[in-house]
Amino acid sequence: MPTYVDEGIVLRRVDYGESDRVLTVLTRHHGKVGVLARGVRKQGSRLAAHTDLFSHSTLQLARGRGELEVLTEARRLGAVTNLGDARRAACAALCAEVADTALEPGQPLDEGLFDLVAEALEACADPARDPRTAVVWFARRMIDRLGYAPELHLCASCGRRLEERAARFSAAGGGLLCPSCGPGDPGGIDCPVAAIKVLRVAASGDAGLYARLRLGPEVLTVLEAVAELELARHIDRRLRSLEVLRALL
Ligand SMILES: [Zn+2]
Repeated sequence: MPTYVDEGIVLRRVDYGESDRVLTVLTRHHGKVGVLARGVRKQGSRLAAHTDLFSHSTLQLARGRGELEVLTEARRLGAVTNLGDARRAACAALCAEVADTALEPGQPLDEGLFDLVAEALEACADPARDPRTAVVWFARRMIDRLGYAPELHLCASCGRRLEERAARFSAAGGGLLCPSCGPGDPGGIDCPVAAIKVLRVAASGDAGLYARLRLGPEVLTVLEAVAELELARHIDRRLRSLEVLRALL
């Protein structure tokens, strides 16, 4: 069987047969691939650790005859280790589920997307970082990369320039609405000026500036609601990990 080597992150896994696992792996150069990991549930399996959720490794994969590649070798790169905390684990699970749901199998990734996922998972596990802030950044960057960047400077409905004041965010309308258009979307979310500023920083892609922002709980709650509304609209599936996370907050 021909083999190839790529860097991969385990987004999802299910037990299969007596001792195997089927993994959904995000690879840097081959996009999202299905991988059969044989015998990894047997005691002493040298590949078992590389099938942990969110593990980041260099993988040697053999092209199988079916839809799945077969894992033949692995070497650990990143270690997402500190996920004993349920809230951090739920945040990481949400990032992985968004990536898994949004990306088609076998499609090459846009430049930077692999690193965006890897960094989000590392941030969720990093005791020095707030995982909710990391999830919001990840969700914003993913939404933009999927081609759904919302309008944040002009009213998404009438095109008027927005003043420095609270505005309603409409996922259906594709961005913020001015005070006259706002009532047109009763399902929208009212965003205070502080939340709008964060949305604009995230849209600029300036990770350094975003990391320096102090996001209070109210702003964070608004930003999460906005991202949730957009994901529900643009990713045509219910995100299970979002419900788990909500129950923990
Ligand atoms: Zn308007």
